[in-house]
Amino acid sequence: MHIPLVDLGRQYRSIEPEIRGAIDQVLADTAFILGPHAEQFETEFAAFCGTKHCVGLNSGTDGLLLAYAALGIGPGDEVITVANTFFATTEPLGHLGATPVFVDIDPETYLIDVSTIEAAITKRTKAIVPVHLYGQMAPMQPILAIARKHNLAVIEDCAQAHAAEQNGQKAGTYGDIGVYSFYPGKNLGAYGDAGCIITSNAKLAAAIRSLRDHGRLSKYEHATIGYSSRLDGIQAAILSAKLPHLAAWTETRRAHAARYTELLPSTMKKPVEAPGNQHVYHLYTIEVDERDEVLKRLKAAGIGAGVHYPIPLHRQPAYAHLGTKAGTLPVTERVATRILSLPMFAELQSEELEVVTQALVGVALTHA
Ligand SMILES: *Cc1c(COP(=O)(O)O)cnc(C)c1O
Repeated sequence: MHIPLVDLGRQYRSIEPEIRGAIDQVLADTAFILGPHAEQFETEFAAFCGTKHCVGLNSGTDGLLLAYAALGIGPGDEVITVANTFFATTEPLGHLGATPVFVDIDPETYLIDVSTIEAAITKRTKAIVPVHLYGQMAPMQPILAIARKHNLAVIEDCAQAHAAEQNGQKAGTYGDIGVYSFYPGKNLGAYGDAGCIITSNAKLAAAIRSLRDHGRLSKYEHATIGYSSRLDGIQAAILSAKLPHLAAWTETRRAHAARYTELLPSTMKKPVEAPGNQHVYHLYTIEVDERDEVLKRLKAAGIGAGVHYPIPLHRQPAYAHLGTKAGTLPVTERVATRILSLPMFAELQSEELEVVTQALVGVALTHA
């Protein structure tokens, strides 16, 4: 028996006619770059999130880049975020001449530790980037309060948090801009690269609309130096076909997570859903002793577990020039050696959840 971390084929087979119909329509319309299918998805996703504007893009990474650029983040500026995230959260800052400043995480939720933010603010700080990691939103009210006090922008990295909510409000609607990825393995995934930003700010939306398309004002007129970061029609049509299923897929993920929590030993550190949060379980991440050995043994047993993420960003070779010493983010560094993500996708079967937990209990090593 092989149980992968994520199985995109099962989902595809469950909606194959809808997907093929959507792709055929784009081919018939020859609307490949932006166009009516992209516009339709933008309208639908903005409505789904409960915000005014959605700008469709080629990836979540460029969503972050364009968000940072539209907010005027540039040379010498600093942006506060976490190191326990995917590299793309901070990568675009480098292209703008800006620098990430990493703060530690909460050991219960693995999300930004709000109590560490203010000490990291300097005269050059321009923004805070909460990452809604694993599918759970960072505490937005205290983050917004700090941002208002110090006049900072807030960009929410929602790449793992489609349909996640905090106090009834969707991810990406609290800050100035929310950035989503539709990378195939995300909770709402395209069949190629895709992403978007959402915002209630018409000026920021217009700026990003122009930046994604070569800084265009019109077909032959370029107002600024922009980028080529547009959403393509086929991906947009696929996303429109999938969006109506997202709520049900999310409920199933939550049910799987609840079952894992019930099946796993009570002594094990399991995901903690903070009050007010609707966690969407992009990943179900636990902690184990001797993580690398457990991972190896699970792989040998046919279980596709993963680690998100083994190397915190401040310890990446690409950030060696920042000179951040080991030990500066103690919680981040400790959990990076312990976290383990279990198979999680809506189409998992209940017997598979049992096989995974039994295998894990069988291979887990506990320190005496
Ligand atoms: C996936 C991801 C991104 C990047 O999105 P892409 O669409 O792959 O470019 C950014 N941040 C986080 C936290 C992610 O998980």
